[in-house]
Formats: sequence, C-alpha cells, structure tokens
Amino acid sequence: MTTKHSNLINGLWTIDSVYSPNINPSNTADVLGEYAQASAAQLDEAVKAATAAFPDWSQSGIQSRADALDKIGTEILARREELGTLLAREEGKTKPEGIGEATRAGNIFKFFAGECLRLAGELVPSVRLGVSVEITREPVGVIGIITPWNFPIAIPAWKIAPALAYGNCVVFKPAELVPGCAWALADIIHRSGIPAGVFNLVMGRGNDIGDPLVNHPDVNAISFTGSQGIGGRIAQQCAVNLKKVQLEMGGKNPQIVLDDADLIQAVELSVQSAFFSTGQRCTASSRLIITEGIYDRFIAGMKARMATLKIGDALASGIDIGPVSSLAQLEQNLSYVEIGKSEGAVLVTGGHRLEYETEGFYMAPALLTETTSDMRINREEVFGPVASIIRVKGYDEALAEANNTRFGLSAGIATTSLKYATHFKRHSQAGMVMVNLPTAGVDYHVPFGGRKGSSYGPREQGRYAQEFFTTVKTTYLGS
Ligand code: NAD
Repeated sequence: MTTKHSNLINGLWTIDSVYSPNINPSNTADVLGEYAQASAAQLDEAVKAATAAFPDWSQSGIQSRADALDKIGTEILARREELGTLLAREEGKTKPEGIGEATRAGNIFKFFAGECLRLAGELVPSVRLGVSVEITREPVGVIGIITPWNFPIAIPAWKIAPALAYGNCVVFKPAELVPGCAWALADIIHRSGIPAGVFNLVMGRGNDIGDPLVNHPDVNAISFTGSQGIGGRIAQQCAVNLKKVQLEMGGKNPQIVLDDADLIQAVELSVQSAFFSTGQRCTASSRLIITEGIYDRFIAGMKARMATLKIGDALASGIDIGPVSSLAQLEQNLSYVEIGKSEGAVLVTGGHRLEYETEGFYMAPALLTETTSDMRINREEVFGPVASIIRVKGYDEALAEANNTRFGLSAGIATTSLKYATHFKRHSQAGMVMVNLPTAGVDYHVPFGGRKGSSYGPREQGRYAQEFFTTVKTTYLGS
C-alpha cells in the first residue's frame, strides 16, 4: 500500500479520484507513492483561488513575504539530506547531487526573502518644470509555472520564490515524472504561513493540465522550462492571448579544448559536463570541440577517465552517475547513438544499456568521434550521457563550430591563453560562458539563461528575475 499525495488548491489538500505511481528509475520495483492527477475543473479552481488571493497578497507587507520565504528556505535547508534523497530516488541523480540541488533550492528561497526588501524604483526629474516621474515595479498577477523533470526542486524554487517575493500568486504544474519533490515543496510552502490560494499545486500531464493552464484567461503570465518543441508552442499560445511568457529550453552546448589547455583539467571538466547527472542537464556539454594538437591525448584521457566512472543505484555510495530517468529517455538516448553511427560517427566507448540486479534504466556513457556539425547528433538535443567529438584545426574553426547551432545556452573553453579566453567570452553566442569550468554548474544569485533557440523572454534568477515577475509603472507627479 503506497501513500497517496493530493493536489493543493486554495490552501486545502484536495480529494482526488485519479492517481499515478511515482517509480524509482534506479529500481523500478520501488514505488515512491501515488500522486494525484488534477482534473481540468481542479485547474480552474486553482486559478480562481490564485485570482481571489492576488489583491491582498500583492498589497501585503514586504516583511511578511520575506519572513515566509525565509521560513521556507530554512526548512528546505534543514531537511536537505531527506529532500536530496527523495530527489535521487525519484529522478536518478546521485544522492550527493540530490542534496546539492536541495541545498540550492533552500538558498534560492533565502535569496528571494532578501529580494522582498530590496525591490526599488526610481525617482527622476521630468522635462516639464514642477513635475517629477516615479518608476515603480508591481506584481504581474497569477503566474502559471510549468517545470521539467531534470531539476525537480531547484527549477520550481527559482520560479516560485521570485513569483511570491514580488507579490504574485502561483499555480504550479510540475513534470509528471517527478511529483515527489514538487509535493514536498508544496507542503513546506503550505505550512509557511502564506495565505490560502497564493500558492497552488496541480499535478498531471502536460496535455491535460499544462495546456489548459497556459490557455486559461485568468492566468497573466507563464514561466516554462522544458523542451524547445513544447516551449515554442507555449510561446505561440501566449502571443495569441497577449500573455507575458518566459521560456528556458534545450541546449547543444559546446566545450572547446585548445592545444594549450591543461589536459587533466580539460578531461575532467568535459567528463563532468557531459556525463554527470546522467547528462540530463540543459547545460550539459554534448559537443566536445577539440583542436588537432591535443586531439589524440584528449581522446585517450577521456577513455581512461570514463573507464573509472561508477554507474549504479542513485542512492548507493561511491556512485558517479545514476540511471537515466525513464525508459522513454533511455530508449531515445540509445537510438541517438545508433543514429550517430549510421551517420558515420565512431562509438569509442559506452552507448549501451547496463543490467544490474535490480531493474533500472542504466546506460554506459557514450563517446562518439569522427562527427561533424551537420550530423543529427550534433544538431538535436539528446538529453542523456552522449557526447560527440568534433575535430578542428585551431581556435577560429572551434569558435565557428561552437556557434554553429540553433541553441545558445552555455558554452565552455579550456585554454591557458588569455587572448583566446577573452575572444571567446565576447564572441560565443551563448547566454552563459565558462572558461576552464564545466558548462554545467551555475550560481543561484546571478542571471541564468540562453540565446537563440534556448531561451525566450527575460532571464531567470538573481535580481534579473524581477524583469519577468514584475511589471513597470511610470507615475507623473505634478505640484
Ligand atoms: P518537456 O517539454 O517534455 O516538459 C516540460 C513541462 O512541460 C512538463 O511539466 C510537461 O508536463 C509540460 N508540458 C508538456 N506538454 C505541454 C503542453 N502542451 N502545454 C503545457 N505544458 C506542457 O520537457 P522535459 O522532458 O520535462 O524536460 C527536458 C527538457 O527541458 C530538455 O529539453 C532540457 O534541455 C530542458 N531544460 C531546460 C532548462 C533551461 O533552463 N534552459 C533547464 C532544465 C531543462
């Protein structure tokens, strides 16, 4: 008998009729619990509750909002070990990665508790004598928040915390694969003392609940993280309905390694970026662009390092890489390895399913060489532990290849040359650039986001979050 978890609407846990099991990808016999699937009517109730709560919440004192967010952050941090374990059990990240993500979520709430007190406007002189102009920021209204499965607590945190901090109400729809962390977060928010209806949780599938949330006439803005295909569709729907929209989507992130790079560092950060968290990070590097002079040594270094990686149950100690998060994702990863081979790539290591005592979705990280930028494995996001090598003559070709993609989230360069590092910082067409660091791994207090097909709308995180979660008012004061 597994525990049943309900939706949260207007400050009450709902009575639900349809539930879905939450399966551990490290061990498919382990069911974390049953999670309610909201109906369209429940979604409507959640939006109504958020709409009704908005006038009071948007006018509430900044101290009470700061206190509530601080309390949420404090509880997440106090329970980071337990929440990180839950995360590892439902998503497949290793336990240390899960605890790290839970810690980040707690810190995000703490950061935005402070932001409640730091929101400022401007007072500027008018061109008309005797008139002054005030520029202030106000909450937007009801925000629909839609999140993916790969960061089950950090991404919800970095959307929900600023939404609440700046006085908005929230209807949150998490990814159907990871309702456990979403429910735990909702429970913490529910007990923080914020009024009923300010925050609502509706669990369910994208087509059943996400689509009606995007199209609901009383939802003022949508903050979405997920795939480019769904994001593009949401952008169109929001445009038709004139809704504010923020989209964070996929990546095909390049990692350049130049001849002058520190080889050990370059191998380590490439393995980290490409394969840790099972390659399931939007900032993972899936294209390793290597110059000729270091090429053979780099490939040998990668093979040697990859041979040491321990893949296994996310909760076991000493594991580097957990399972793929679902069977569908595993099959997609394996099919991309086959697509790469059929396009002429050479599989140097990995790329197959791994079988253990318990049934899970394990995969040996794949490294493909002899690849070119026109191949599908270098153009489409795989979203798994699959990296391909592109061989180039020198820096100029490396830069051109790095930018030769419709995505633009994160990009890295390994070099000891200040000249090339400086040029790359300026000429990379990515939203985030890393010098001698993995493409994945970002701070929580600075802007996060990409360019081209990776992101759309204002940046997330840090002070920049206010751009999306507030709206600007210009007031003219006569004498
Ligand atoms: P997805 O697009 O399949 O789903 C994301 C969310 O959208 C889920 O909650 C899903 O239920 C919902 N959804 C699906 N169909 C919908 C619809 N028609 N209307 C409204 N909502 C709908 O993505 P995923 O598989 O959960 O996540 C992986 C993707 O997320 C990858 O492409 C990855 O790069 C991206 N991602 C991007 C970032 C970033 O910040 N750029 C961060 C993490 C993940």
